[in-house]
Amino acid sequence: MNSGKSVTVIGGGIAGLSSAVFLAEKGCRVKLIESSPKLGGRAYSFYDQEKKMFFDNGQHILAGWYENTFDFLKITGSFGLLDFQSALEINFINENMQIFRLKCTDDDPPMNLVMGLLKFKALNFNDKFRLRNINKILKGEKDSLLKYDNAGELLRDLNQTDNLMKYFWEPLILAVFNTKPLNVGTEVFINVLKTGFGEKGNSNLVIPSVDLNALLINKTVEYFERKDVTVITGERVKQIDIGEKVNFIILENGEKIFSDYYISAVPFFSFARLFDEKISGKFKFDPDSLKHSCIISVHIFLKEEIPEEMIPDNSLGMTGLTGTSVQWIFLRSRKHLSLVISGADDIGLTDESPEKIFETCVNDLKKCIRDFDKIKISDYRVIKEKRATFIPSAESGRNRPGQRTEFENFFIAGDWTDTGLPSTIESAVKSSKIISDHI
Ligand SMILES: Cc1cc2nc3c(=O)[nH]c(=O)nc-3n(C[C@H](O)[C@H](O)[C@H](O)COP(=O)(O)OP(=O)(O)OC[C@H]3O[C@@H](n4cnc5c(N)ncnc54)[C@H](O)[C@@H]3O)c2cc1C
Repeated sequence: MNSGKSVTVIGGGIAGLSSAVFLAEKGCRVKLIESSPKLGGRAYSFYDQEKKMFFDNGQHILAGWYENTFDFLKITGSFGLLDFQSALEINFINENMQIFRLKCTDDDPPMNLVMGLLKFKALNFNDKFRLRNINKILKGEKDSLLKYDNAGELLRDLNQTDNLMKYFWEPLILAVFNTKPLNVGTEVFINVLKTGFGEKGNSNLVIPSVDLNALLINKTVEYFERKDVTVITGERVKQIDIGEKVNFIILENGEKIFSDYYISAVPFFSFARLFDEKISGKFKFDPDSLKHSCIISVHIFLKEEIPEEMIPDNSLGMTGLTGTSVQWIFLRSRKHLSLVISGADDIGLTDESPEKIFETCVNDLKKCIRDFDKIKISDYRVIKEKRATFIPSAESGRNRPGQRTEFENFFIAGDWTDTGLPSTIESAVKSSKIISDHI
């Protein structure tokens, strides 16, 4: 099928790639332009010459509710490269070396979560008693909860205990929103909970069984070759020329590109630069209303295998740490631990040196894992992504632009557009799906 429509996509991150895929699938002639030499934007892998292996720029976790992402990956042929949990299951180790397992049951939601939390030994009777208030979020009217500015205020008013915050809400919020509860707008928080615990399977975690290039880029590039999608990398779009509608775009090298439709899939901080100052004011979007949040990943290589009793395995080899700077350990192998520090700005780690960050990680591991001080470390890598996500505050929620604009042939894609979701792959792909349906 060839719709005959031509579309130019600016930006080769996940929003740009998925826009190109959905539109090529509908028969459009697509040209994608990416300023950097590589595709993938904030989700990519790079080759480390010394270790002779690929590293992701950060562990990416998906969930059962990523329906638009799954559609994208099914079209490119990557869907089979995902590992799905059969039920939400996470091990936690606290700063007193106690290990707890949260395992949701096979019941329909929200019973699966309630039953899992009732059996979760990190919680005491009082914590479990307060759990019934979760229903006010899951089953309640969203509008009545919007009087709260943020998730922190809402949870405090629902009498969630310190223990519930420590073992359930804070790990969940940091993993999904990459910041603390007080920074998360109530609306986006409720959206995620209602979606995540809305249908069976939605809350199950999903992780790639391969690196991010293999999951998101390589097969997409093969798909583009089959569908004659033109991809230009290493070429920045300098300006979008707009009158009544977009007339053309100009590349840094002076070349003009003409098409029927144009999609911006650049990050929020690059968006205004694409236009003449007079025009950028028309989008009623203030880039300063969005703030970044950093994620730090630390890979630790061990001389010997770490025994099972130190880090018990679970379905995805994922363990949460509580009372520490490190939040997650992913067991890549028994000799390779991949650690995640989300919301690194909140704990003042973003500008620390790799040596200092590594030292913090090792101290956390010693604090939580019995006998970790006997384990010999052979090597480590620290990967910092200062602009990993935006902070989904209530204010940012009011400022995110929709995908359609007042210019009929111009659309905006990206995780930061108004999808009702936090800064995630799913938000990026959802924005593309909305646009491809309009076009
Ligand atoms: C360390 C880390 C961990 C993360 N963990 C998760 C996770 O667990 N789960 C999850 O769902 N999400 C996670 N995310 C977030 C996820 O990666 C992003 O939400 C998503 O990749 C955003 O995609 P995007 O296409 O909207 O934007 P971007 O990836 O920022 O892509 C924008 C692209 O536009 C290009 N560009 C900019 N200006 C121009 C121009 N003038 N001309 C041409 N091209 C231009 C840029 O080079 C870039 O490639 C994580 C991100 C990081 C960094």
